Amino acid sequence: MSTIKPEDFFKNVISHSKEYGFIFPSSEIYDGLSAVYDYGQMGVELKKNVRDYWWKAMVQMHENIVGLDASIFMHPTTWKASGHVDAFNDPLIDNKDSKKRYRADVLIEEHVAKIEDKINKEVEKAAKRFENFDATMFKSTNTRVVEYQQKIDEINARFKTALNDNNLEEVKQIIVDLEIVCPISGSKNWTDVRQFNLMFSTSMGAVTDESNIIYLRPETAQGIFVNYLNVQKTGRMKIPFGIAQTGKAFRNEIVARQFIFRMREFEQMEMQFFVRPGTEMQWYEYWKKARLNWHLSLGLGSDKYRFHDHLKLAHYANAACDIEHNFPFGFKELEGIHSRTDFDLKQHEQFSGKKLQYFDPELNESYVPYVVETSVGLDRLFLSILSSALKEEALEGGDTRTVLSLPYALAPYKAAIFPLVKKDGLPELAEKIMKDLKFDFMVAYDEKDTVGKRYRRQDAIGTPFCITIDHQSLEDNMVTIRNRDTMKQERLSIDSLHAFLTQHTSLQSLLKTL
Ligand code: ATP
Repeated sequence: MSTIKPEDFFKNVISHSKEYGFIFPSSEIYDGLSAVYDYGQMGVELKKNVRDYWWKAMVQMHENIVGLDASIFMHPTTWKASGHVDAFNDPLIDNKDSKKRYRADVLIEEHVAKIEDKINKEVEKAAKRFENFDATMFKSTNTRVVEYQQKIDEINARFKTALNDNNLEEVKQIIVDLEIVCPISGSKNWTDVRQFNLMFSTSMGAVTDESNIIYLRPETAQGIFVNYLNVQKTGRMKIPFGIAQTGKAFRNEIVARQFIFRMREFEQMEMQFFVRPGTEMQWYEYWKKARLNWHLSLGLGSDKYRFHDHLKLAHYANAACDIEHNFPFGFKELEGIHSRTDFDLKQHEQFSGKKLQYFDPELNESYVPYVVETSVGLDRLFLSILSSALKEEALEGGDTRTVLSLPYALAPYKAAIFPLVKKDGLPELAEKIMKDLKFDFMVAYDEKDTVGKRYRRQDAIGTPFCITIDHQSLEDNMVTIRNRDTMKQERLSIDSLHAFLTQHTSLQSLLKTL
């Protein structure tokens, strides 16, 4: 879709998701619920495969990483200890004319992104003009680009100081000085910047009063911290070791838009890696690399990812970065890698009065371990994969097709089985093949319409292989197997189908590239 505008392409992603049963707005018959979505029959398979791939790569492939499934509800003191009750806030600003509310940090970051775009355009223009173009040299010598870059550095430095000092007046002043306007009203008529807590709360039991307030967890990580000692002792884990978990998290997001990129109910896949104090930076670098490689193994293109170091470190971190993905609306955070020091365990020690230490036999001493965390949103990952895979392709003869080039191992269906016609014993043979494959693979069966139309339907949901049974199959026990991407067809014996699908569509085929 090279000629299509990014915003139109994003609309296509959303409508394709709905049309083919990947994602529906939540409670749609009541006009939906803002920033909440449901996964349909195709979406649930793709999501499960992505989650499985993460679990295999993180837990099954590491002897020193184990899993956990902690509850969504946790003792309310957990969130006092973690800092979420007091500090899980977003800086908000309202435009007085449009009455729209924005995250102040996002307004500034978007302004910086616009200047970055200008630099990229200058570089692209120059690259077309000069042979042997050296982008780094150009960026450091071209007056206009140097000015843009200085402007970006100035804004970032000012913004970083304001955030670190929790100086909300200065954050507002930056917005005013940069002359940022509201995208809806076009005016610069802003309120002051305020903090807003993102946790959802409810009450436990029949009586509703202050003491029964309980929160829906805003991250899965705390379930891991409070279980650190349980897992370490019962699993006889030796440092360094990790605990991994996937599960729902809830945030009362203010700027909830961009489809499943930012939701109020979403799923996280997190791993906390417990290490000896002083070794955390080494492990931080290790996990940065390992997690980037995991994303690259999906084969969506190395140009789709980049690192972004955090300007403002969270209260618990001594190093942090994001792996960003090039979504249809630009590069945005996909996964966070954080060196969280011993902050969380120490806080829980203090609030619970229980020791959360590790006796290191090599050092012959006890300490509170340091933690390096990897935290990725499953829904964001889903969106990154789906939007990178969706393509409109020109075919010979002027026709086009919509194809979802998902990594084979992640596709909802691994194969679709078509009897060429609905008679002459072909459906019976197709059903027999289906029966032999369906325990190990998700397979679809389709006998309606022409084979061409059936191919199109499977292309649109990303099925890597279509298997057609024709009259000759009854005689030679062979079928035609057609590849989604190359559209090439070959004859294959029915007996070899299982091995063929295992070779091409198992998660192992992805893991091999890690
Ligand atoms: P952002 O800056 O985009 O709000 P964050 O820095 O608050 O994200 P983390 O707290 O580091 O995010 O959470 C880890 C991961 O969880 C993120 O990288 C993202 O993939 C995912 N995530 C966070 N918030 C949401 C959300 N509202 N909807 C979907 N995924 C989310």
